[in-house]
Amino acid sequence: MNLKLGTLNRLLLFSFLLFPFSLSAQAPDIQHVIVIGVDGMSPDGVLKAKTPTIDSILKVAAYSWKCEAVLPTSSSPNWASMIMGAGPDKHGVTSNAWQPHKQTIELECEGTRGNGKPSGMWPTIFGELRRQKPESTIGCFNDWLAFNRLFEKGVVSRQRDAILLQAASHHGYKGITRMATNYFKRKKPEFMFVHLDMVDHAGHHDGHGTQAYYDAVSVADQMIARIVKAVKESGVSEKTIILITADHGGIGHGHGGDTPEERFVPWILTGPGVVNGELQVEVKTYDTAATLAYLLGIKAPDCWVGKPILQAISQ
Ligand SMILES: [Zn+2]
Ligand SMILES: [Zn+2]
Repeated sequence: MNLKLGTLNRLLLFSFLLFPFSLSAQAPDIQHVIVIGVDGMSPDGVLKAKTPTIDSILKVAAYSWKCEAVLPTSSSPNWASMIMGAGPDKHGVTSNAWQPHKQTIELECEGTRGNGKPSGMWPTIFGELRRQKPESTIGCFNDWLAFNRLFEKGVVSRQRDAILLQAASHHGYKGITRMATNYFKRKKPEFMFVHLDMVDHAGHHDGHGTQAYYDAVSVADQMIARIVKAVKESGVSEKTIILITADHGGIGHGHGGDTPEERFVPWILTGPGVVNGELQVEVKTYDTAATLAYLLGIKAPDCWVGKPILQAISQ
């Protein structure tokens, strides 16, 4: 019996050596990409909070606990870098005070608005997808209102932010998640970005590493569960990639500095063709845009610095 099993194993190994690709699946057919960006959610938050959904995703995901945010570890520079494929030295979004009509530096490259005109700002994944695949359905649902200004005007099919009243009471995430899940089920967008803000609020209000902070991460996990469920109910789980990440972590009651607690964020990719395990390569937040471009089948602009994390995806 043992001999037979041993022979079989050797035969399998032999055939694998002869035909190394015959055992791997065909290239996955990716038609939908969703980014869930949880403001201020640190690796510590995910690892210590009760997060059953993320835990089950990690069993099949490619992930890093050391995705590196850019400096300063403020929201705008980091969301911008994530969707713009470069750091603040290139795109000029150096602080939360940044506005598209108040560029801080001379830009070496420029995106395109929905009407085809130059955007006056660094190109984002939203604008590039619209420009390269004009028929794409693109959704953006953001709990933090200022996120809107970070991408080119008129390039998303539908954009909704938290109702002002809810945002003020830090309960915007409920409406955002509901609008995003409804939209996904109705339109099955090629690309959807969901931004949730409650974890950052808990970090400022109660402090990072407090029970209230971990509870907020658990709420984020519940919102992620709703989005995953919507994808399943839409019948497109086998064609949908989800990325869970954050703009920065935090320390004490804030962020902005360069401690590891502020600088490292989770980067968790799941879906068809994703190679399971902890990534053994450096991941920067600005690699996200290039990875999204790769997954969406468009070309990353030459001026993007970030590189697609190909180690996360079976080739
Ligand atoms: Zn933030
Ligand atoms: Zn904050």
